[in-house]
Amino acid sequence: MQLYSTNNHNLRVSFREAVMKGLPDDNGLFMPVEIPALPGRFIRELKKYSFQEISFTVAKNLLQDAIPDPDLKNIIRNAIDFPAPLVRLDDDTYILELFHGPSLAFKDFGARFMAQTMSWLNRGEDQELTILVATSGDTGGAVAAGFHRTPGIRVVILYPSGKVSPLQEKQLTTLGHNITALEMEGTFDDCQALVKAAFLDANVTDKLRLSSANSINIARLIPQSFYYFEAYKQVTPLPSPLVFSVPSGNFGNLTAGLFARKMGLPVHQFVAATNANDVIPEYLETGKYHPRPSVRTLSNAMDVGAPSNFTRMLDLYCSTWNMMREDVVGFSFSDEETREAMQEADKRHNYVLDPHGTVGYLALRKYQKQNVCTGVVLETAHPAKFAEDVEIILGRKIVIPERLATLANKEKTAVRMKPDYASFKEWLLRH
Ligand SMILES: *Cc1c(COP(=O)(O)O)cnc(C)c1O
Repeated sequence: MQLYSTNNHNLRVSFREAVMKGLPDDNGLFMPVEIPALPGRFIRELKKYSFQEISFTVAKNLLQDAIPDPDLKNIIRNAIDFPAPLVRLDDDTYILELFHGPSLAFKDFGARFMAQTMSWLNRGEDQELTILVATSGDTGGAVAAGFHRTPGIRVVILYPSGKVSPLQEKQLTTLGHNITALEMEGTFDDCQALVKAAFLDANVTDKLRLSSANSINIARLIPQSFYYFEAYKQVTPLPSPLVFSVPSGNFGNLTAGLFARKMGLPVHQFVAATNANDVIPEYLETGKYHPRPSVRTLSNAMDVGAPSNFTRMLDLYCSTWNMMREDVVGFSFSDEETREAMQEADKRHNYVLDPHGTVGYLALRKYQKQNVCTGVVLETAHPAKFAEDVEIILGRKIVIPERLATLANKEKTAVRMKPDYASFKEWLLRH
C-alpha cells in the first residue's frame, strides 16, 4: 500500500511511514493511492463470512502487502473482537450498534486497530514506543483501552484536572499496566502544548521513541470501513436503495463509509447528520466552506467547527462540489429537536438512542420524507455513556451495562502535575 498527501499527490509513503508519522510534513492528510474495488462475488456472498473474515478481506484490499496475511489476521482477531449488530426499528429503519467495545463508542474500532498495527510495526525494536496523547476527555478513553496491554508500547495520557467527566476520568485512570494518566493542573490547551513541545525537543526524541495516536491517523480510518460491509451483510436482501445516516463531527466515520462505497459496497447515499455545528451540511447546500469555532451541544462529541476529514472528502471527489452532493446529503438539528426525537424513538420503537445516534435518526427521518430507502443509522455510542442527559430527557432510569457500572468502583491512579514543560520532561525521561 502506498499513500500520498492531500497537499501533494506526487508524494509516496509506505503504510508504515503513514501510520508512524500520523500526518505528512506538508500539513495535508494521508490518503491511499488506490482504493481498489472488491470482487462483486465477495459482496454478493457477504453472508457466508464472519465479521472478522470480512474485516480481513477489506483490510487486505487496502493494505495489499503492507502486512503479511497471518499477521493481519492476528491484528484483526485482537482488534475487532466485539460485534456490530444491526437492530430493526421498522421495515425501512435499522440501527447499527457500534458501541459494544470497551469504551462503549465506535472509536474503539479505530483505536484498537491502530494499537495492534503500531505494535506490529514496532516488533523487533528493542526500544519501547511511547505514545503521547492529550485529551479533553472523549478520545482518551478509547485510546487508553485500545492500547491497554499492547506489547512494546506505553501510553502517556495528559488530561486537564477537573475538566473531564467523572466517568471519562475513570476510563483514563483505572487501567494501569502500560497506561499512565497525567492529571494536569491546567487546560486541554496546556496538555496539547506540552505534547507538542516534547515532539520538538531533541533531548526527548533522542532518548525516547515517540509517536502520537492522532485521530486523523489512517490506521484509525481503515477499520471504520469494515462495519459498513458488516451492516450490508445483515440488512440484505434490500427492498429499496440503501442509505447510511452518520452522526458526524470530524467526519472520519463518514469518510470511511465513502471508502467502503469506493470498494464496491452498493450504498445509494450517505446522510451527513450534524448538530448545530453544521459546517458540512452548509457546504453541501451552498458550495461554501466556512470553518468556525464550535458551539457546545447535547451531542458534544460532534461539536466540531473545522472537521478534519473534510480535506479527505474533498480529495475523494476531486474538490468537486456537485459530485460530492450526489453521494452525500447533509442535515443539522438543534438540541431541542434531538430531545424530542429521542423521546419519539423511545415511545414508538421502544429503543433508547444516545444523543449522537439521535441526530443520525433525525437526519434519516428527514431524508425519508423525500426518498424511499432502507436506512441504517450508525449508533456511535451507548446511551449509558450520557446517562445524565438521557435519563432527564426520557424521564426515567436507563440500564447501565455491567462494564460501565464497575468502572465507578475502580480506583483512580494519576500523576498530578503543574503544566510546565520542565516538570513534564523530567517525568517523561525518568519513567
Ligand atoms: C467521535 C464521535 C462522533 C463523531 O465521529 P467523527 O468520525 O468525528 O465524525 C460521533 N459520535 C460519537 C459518540 C463520537 O464519540
